[in-house]
Amino acid sequence: MDIRVTLSEALRAKPQDESKLGFGSIFTDHMFLMDYEAGEGWKDARIVPYGDFHLDPAAMVLHYGQAIFEGTKCYRRADGGLQLFRPEANFARMTRSAERLGMPALDEKTALEGLKKLLEIEKDWVPHQDGTSLYIRPTMIALDAQLGVHAAHHYLFYIILSPVGSYYKEGLKPVSIYVEDEYVRAVRGGVGFTKCAGNYAASILAGEVAAKKGYSQVLWLDGVEQKYVEEVGSMNMMFAYGNKIVTPALNGSILPGITRDSIITVARAMGYEVVEERLAIADIFADAKSGKLTEAFGTGTAAVISPVGTLAWKDEILTVGDGNIGPVAQRLYDTLTGIQYGRIADDHGWVTKLS
Ligand SMILES: *Cc1c(COP(=O)(O)O)cnc(C)c1O
Repeated sequence: MDIRVTLSEALRAKPQDESKLGFGSIFTDHMFLMDYEAGEGWKDARIVPYGDFHLDPAAMVLHYGQAIFEGTKCYRRADGGLQLFRPEANFARMTRSAERLGMPALDEKTALEGLKKLLEIEKDWVPHQDGTSLYIRPTMIALDAQLGVHAAHHYLFYIILSPVGSYYKEGLKPVSIYVEDEYVRAVRGGVGFTKCAGNYAASILAGEVAAKKGYSQVLWLDGVEQKYVEEVGSMNMMFAYGNKIVTPALNGSILPGITRDSIITVARAMGYEVVEERLAIADIFADAKSGKLTEAFGTGTAAVISPVGTLAWKDEILTVGDGNIGPVAQRLYDTLTGIQYGRIADDHGWVTKLS
C-alpha cells in the first residue's frame, strides 16, 4: 500500500534535558494513520502532522470499548544508528487482540512499513542518553457512530511516538508490590490475553488503593480462585530459585508479554532452567520465607526488568532476597538491554536496524 506523507510546517523543539523525559507525555511532530472499512479492508495509509482527530460522540469506541493498543520502542545505538526490537511480534499480537474484540486483523505489513517511514521522518526525536528510547504506541479503535452493540464497520489504526526517559536513573531499584485479594483483572475466556484498553480501566482502582497503602504496583491473582499468580500491572512475573526461573504459564487471562518471551529465550540460552507453570501465591510466600525463593521480578517493554523488593499479601509483608536486585535479574537485564541497544550481538533475529 502507498503511504502518503504530509509534513508538518511547525516542528516543535525537542526536549533539551533528556534526564527529565519521564514517560509518555511528549509526542513527536507526526503520526501514522490508516482506515478500515468493512468490504474494502485497510486503506488510505498516511503520515500527517500530529494532532487531534475528528470523533463522533456516538463513536463505538467511546461506548463499547473496542480499543486495543501495543507498546514497543525504537532504540539508539552507541554509533547513533536506530533499531527496533521484535516489532512484528507486537503487530501479530495486535491482530490476536483484534480478533478477540471482534475487530479486523491488522494489515501488519503496512503497519510495519508505516512505522519505519514514520521513524525515518522522526529519527531526531529518538533520545541519546543511556536508557532512553522512543516509545511507540500503535492503537486501533472503532469509529462507527452507532449505539447498537455489534462489530463496527469502520476502524482507525494509528501510531504515535513519545520520547521516554530511562526507567532506572540510579540502577535497578526494587519495587514494592501489593497482592490484590479483592478485585481481579481478568478471567479465562475473557480478554485478559489482549492488550485492550478495558483491561487497564479495570485495573485503575486497585492501583490507586495500593498506591495509598504505599505500594507501587498491584500483583493480580487468578480471577476464579484468587490463589494463583497472574501478573503485575503491565508486567509479567518471574521468580528465581537460584538458577531456576519459574513464571506463570500463559492461561488465557495473562497477557503474553514479548519481554517475557524474550527473557525466557535469553535465560535458557544462558543456561538457566525456565519452567512455566501454575504458581500458588501461598507457595511463593512460603518459599520466600524459607529462603528457597531468591528473586522476584517483573518483565515488560517499559522497564524491561523490574525487581520486586517487597510483597504484601493480606496481613503478610515479606522482603524478597535481601531487598536488592539479585544476580539473575541483573544478568538478564544487562543481556536483553544489551541486545536492544546493539551492545550485544542479536543471535535470535529480533533486531531490525533502521540506520
Ligand atoms: C503490555 C503488557 C505486559 C508486557 O508485555 P510486553 O510485550 O513485554 O511489553 C504485561 N502485562 C500486561 C497487562 C500488559 O498490558
